[in-house]
Amino acid sequence: MTLTFDAKQMAAELYDGGFRPMFIGGQWVAAQSGEVSETYNPATGAVLATVPLAASADVDRAVAAARRALEGPWSRFSPYERQTLLLKIADLFEANWERLSVSDTLNMGMPIMRTLANKRRVIGMLRFYAGMATALHGEVIDNSIPGEIVTFTRREPIGVVGAIIPWNAPTAASIWKIAPALATGCTVVLKPSEDAPLTPLLIAKLMQEAGVPDGVVNIVTGKGSVAGARLAEHPDVNKIVFTGSTATGQSIARAAVGNLKRVSLELGGKSPVIVCRDADIDRAVPVAAMAVFAHSGQICIAGSRLFVAREIHEEFVAKVGEFARSLRIGHGIEADTDIGPLISARQAQVVESFIASGQSEGAALVAGGMRLSGALYDKGNFIAPTVFGNVKDEMRIAREEIFGPVISAMPFDTIEEAVERANASPYGLAAGIFTQNLGMAHKLVRRIKAGSVWVNMYHALDPAVPFGGMKMSGYGREGGVEHLHEYLETKAVWIQTD
Ligand code: NAD
Repeated sequence: MTLTFDAKQMAAELYDGGFRPMFIGGQWVAAQSGEVSETYNPATGAVLATVPLAASADVDRAVAAARRALEGPWSRFSPYERQTLLLKIADLFEANWERLSVSDTLNMGMPIMRTLANKRRVIGMLRFYAGMATALHGEVIDNSIPGEIVTFTRREPIGVVGAIIPWNAPTAASIWKIAPALATGCTVVLKPSEDAPLTPLLIAKLMQEAGVPDGVVNIVTGKGSVAGARLAEHPDVNKIVFTGSTATGQSIARAAVGNLKRVSLELGGKSPVIVCRDADIDRAVPVAAMAVFAHSGQICIAGSRLFVAREIHEEFVAKVGEFARSLRIGHGIEADTDIGPLISARQAQVVESFIASGQSEGAALVAGGMRLSGALYDKGNFIAPTVFGNVKDEMRIAREEIFGPVISAMPFDTIEEAVERANASPYGLAAGIFTQNLGMAHKLVRRIKAGSVWVNMYHALDPAVPFGGMKMSGYGREGGVEHLHEYLETKAVWIQTD
C-alpha cells in the first residue's frame, strides 16, 4: 500500500517538541500554574510536544466558559445554524484529514493506513449529527384532564457536558462526544487522555476556524486523577460522557453523585467470539485475528476470548497463529505497517505480565509471546501478536481485559456451553459469531449479552448505529438517534387554553 502524501514530512511539520496550549473560552492558554507535561511518540519514545497540566482551577475556568456560552448567543443558534456549523466542520475535517490522521498515528501509534481509513466514519458522524440537528422535536400528548388543556414536550439541551476520553482513538472519540453536543445546543469541556492529548487540540483549531462560538467547545489537558476527577465532580457540569476503563467509570459515577449529573459510560470489555463447527474457516481466521490485533489489541471491543468448536479448534487456532506471524509490526507512520506499538512502557509491562501468567497457568503458546527487540523496536513498546490455545476459563488471560495483542482461544463442545461461557463475564460490550447457519446466528444473537454483535464479521461501526455496553461495560449509547437523547432533557408543558 502506498500513501498519496508525504506522511513523514507532515509529521515533522506538525510536532517539534514545542508547547501546545489548551483551548478555553476561545483562547489558547497555559495552565494557571504554568505546569506542563510531555507527550510522546510511542513508536520512538520521542517527545512530540508539551501540553498544559491543568489543575482544578483550569477546569473551573473551562466550565465557567462553557456555562457562559450555553447561556449566551449559542442558545439563540437555530437548528439550521447548528447544522450549518457541523457541516462546515465536516468540510474542514475532510480538507485536513491527512493531518488529523498523522497526528493520531504519531501520538498513539495506530498505523497510518488505519487512522486514514477512519475518515468516512468520523466525517460521517459530523454529517449524521448535522442532519439530526434539524430533526429534534418534542411531542403533543393528549391528556385526560377536564377543560381545554394542551400538553406537549420540548427537548432541551442538557447543558454543560464534561467529556473524558481515552487515548486509543482521539479523533473519533472527540467527535463522538462533540458532534451530538453541537447538534443539540449543549456546550462541552473535553479532557483528552494524558497519553494522547494532541489531536483534540488540533480539532479545537478546526472548530475555531469553522466559527464555533467561544466557550462552546473547550479542551483541557491534564491528568485523569486531577482534571478528569474535577470535571466528574463539578457542581456546574450537567452531564459526563466517558469512555475508558471500567474502574475509572466507576469512580466517575461516584463523583457525579454530588449534583446528580447525568452520566453515560463506554467502558472495557472481554468480548467473546464464537466460531461454530460449520464456519467458513478461511474467511473467519483473519477477521477473528484482527478482532484483537487491530491497534495491537488496544480496542475496547477486542474479541479476546475466542471460543472455537472442538472439532476445528486445532486447525483454526493454528491458522490464527500463522496469520499473527504474517503481520508486519513497525512504526505507524510507515504505510506498510499492520501493527504498531503499545501506547506506553507501562502498558507493555502489563501485557507482558498477562503473557507470563498465561504461560505459568498452562495455556499453549501458539504464536508471539515476546517483546520485540532490534533497531526498529528498541525505543518503542512493541509486543508480537500473541495467540494462546487450549485456554481455560478460569485463567487470568481468559477473564481480564488485557488491552494488548493477545488472543485466548478455548475449545467448546456444545453451543449451549459456548453461550453460557461467553456470557460468564462481568463485561458485555461486544461479541462475534461465525456460522453459515442463519438460524443458529439468530439464536446466538438473541442469547449473547452484549451491546453489539457481529455475525461473520467484526468491528464495523457506523454513525447511525448505536454502540455501547451491557453489564460492566457501561450504560448509554453512542451513535444513532439514541445518542442524542443522552444530550437532551424532556420538559413537559401544560397550557390552559379556555
Ligand atoms: P482510563 O480509564 O485510564 O482513562 C480514560 C480517561 O479517563 C483518560 O482521559 C484519563 O485521564 C481519565 N481519568 C483517569 N482517572 C480518572 C478519574 N479518577 N476521574 C476522571 N477521569 C479520569 O482508560 P485508558 O487507559 O485511557 O483507555 C483504555 C480503556 O478504555 C480500556 O479499558 C478500554 O476498554 C476502554 N475503552 C472503552 C471504549 C468503549 O467505547 N467502550 C472505547 C475505547 C476504550
